[in-house]
Amino acid sequence: MAREIASEVVGELLTELCRAHGADASGDLAAYIPPLALADPGAFGLALVSREGHRYQAGDAEIRFTIQSVSKPFVYALALTELGLAEVTRHVGTEPSGEAFNAISLEPGTGRPANPMINAGAIATTGMLAAEGPEERFTRVLDVLGRFAGRGLDVDEEVYRAEAQTGDRNRALAHLMRASGSLRCPPTEAAEVYFRQCAVLVDTVDVAVMAATLAAGGLNPVTGEQVVPEPVAVQVLAVMATCGMYDGSGEWLLRVGLPAKSGVSGGVIAVSPGRFGVAGYSPPLDAAGNSVRVVSALRELSDRFGLHLMHNPAPSAPTVTEAWRDGGRLALVAAQGALDFTAAERVVHAVGACLPDEQPGCLVLDLHRVTDADAAALALLRGVIAAAASTGLLVGLVAAPDMTLGDRATVHDSRDAAIAWAATAG
Ligand code: GLU
Repeated sequence: MAREIASEVVGELLTELCRAHGADASGDLAAYIPPLALADPGAFGLALVSREGHRYQAGDAEIRFTIQSVSKPFVYALALTELGLAEVTRHVGTEPSGEAFNAISLEPGTGRPANPMINAGAIATTGMLAAEGPEERFTRVLDVLGRFAGRGLDVDEEVYRAEAQTGDRNRALAHLMRASGSLRCPPTEAAEVYFRQCAVLVDTVDVAVMAATLAAGGLNPVTGEQVVPEPVAVQVLAVMATCGMYDGSGEWLLRVGLPAKSGVSGGVIAVSPGRFGVAGYSPPLDAAGNSVRVVSALRELSDRFGLHLMHNPAPSAPTVTEAWRDGGRLALVAAQGALDFTAAERVVHAVGACLPDEQPGCLVLDLHRVTDADAAALALLRGVIAAAASTGLLVGLVAAPDMTLGDRATVHDSRDAAIAWAATAG
């Protein structure tokens, strides 16, 4: 029942977006290979997968299409997991290229492609995975894409053959990179595996699950598998934010403000970190190579829900629930909820504002209703306890047992115990 209601509510939102943006018939189909030119220009699907793994969809979200460049962030994630950021960036840069996705431009001196979201960088990334030969290399690529999607995936052999028949430019890129030292495997192997990688079949829900896995720090919320470590997911999202939408990346970051990746077949994924992955499929592309309808639908979604990364409202619930001084030796500050930098700064500020008049005084910090404190919050809380203690105050602490806040405070089980201690301490 709960699920059906959620499907109605979130699904209806996606359906509304499909309706509002489906009428736009502008854009052109990718035509560099015949199968893509045959796609239905009217197809339009959207899917959203929450951090909890709940899946929502609207329109043609179950039409299969080839993943194309939407594969790039996920293979990059595998390379980062295997080799680490330092080694990966020796071979592939992390700067927007300002050139076409298939540009033959390599950094003078190092031969590095600009970033892993353009063809050259993606071919180099596929080529750096540890593998004995093309079969093993492709098996590894297909395996990681499947683990991100939460199901085993297959290749569209017809698209693969068409990619291979027309892929001379990508082969040329591979040979140039091999000559300049940035490609770690034979150029023909890297190019052929890359062609197969582009031809992997997915639907919109699959790629939304893949995006949700990045949103959840590398943990696939549908299967529960940690596909890549959390720091890798952060690195991949950072590169997607600056380089994921071809030469429309700057405009996209400005107007939509979410890490994203699009591909020539009309698929786009976007990630609201910590919240959800969203994806769309609609084949007609704008001049930058991004799906016209999906871009405008996701722009509306971001606007309506305040999803822009740079838009970061302060926590809505009050953090400091009590802050008082009894006119003599005792001050008490109580806080609640999840503490991040902003919330912990409120606590620190409240402590400063109600320090006791008499010395030696006591400060009771009641944090028993704090549900979570991140690294920034813990650092601030430790700092305020140490600062209060160094002025000669006795600090009593009521906190969740797993909050380690240093040894400058006396820990109590309850507020009453802390106040009783304060009455006699000093
Ligand atoms: N198969 C395409 C190519 O390498 C993928 C490009 C893309 O989706 O951007 O040309």
